[in-house]
Amino acid sequence: MPLEVHVVTAEREVYTEDGVDEVVAPGIQGELTVLPSHAPLLTMIKPGIMRLVKGNDETDVAITGGFLEVKDDRVTILADAAERAEEIDEVRAEEARRRAERTLEEREDTAELVTAAAALQRSLLRLRVAEMRRRRRPRGPSGPPGV
Ligand code: ATP
Repeated sequence: MPLEVHVVTAEREVYTEDGVDEVVAPGIQGELTVLPSHAPLLTMIKPGIMRLVKGNDETDVAITGGFLEVKDDRVTILADAAERAEEIDEVRAEEARRRAERTLEEREDTAELVTAAAALQRSLLRLRVAEMRRRRRPRGPSGPPGV
């Protein structure tokens, strides 16, 4: 039996699919691979990239942390924030990166620095996921359509 996967945030459903073959997630103790018939599990996940494999289809999701539960071939990820690669607004992520870098250079307050470091990590993650998608599906006259 393949997996039923739900990636949700407090705001929305990010990814809901049946028939998923493999979930790879950034567990707090390292990369976590969930295949069908996995033992029940509840764990925290850290900011990183989640990969969902369904047949020949691979979906990358930028995730900023949360919880992952596996039970009876059902995988539920409750995320702080998550975006599928095609949803990522690269301009926004680039602006967030610049803003965070500026704060890290100019400010001294510890709380501000910690906040900016986390924002920098999120922006870099989003940029990386968007870049991975572009490499996989090149746009332009010679490449396949970037859907
Ligand atoms: P920003 O400073 O651009 O708001 P952020 O890291 O502070 O970025 P979050 O607090 O992690 O943003 O997320 C707030 C909401 O905005 C979430 O719903 C998240 O999915 C969405 N989001 C954040 N950045 C992007 C982006 N670059 N592209 C698409 N959605 C984004």
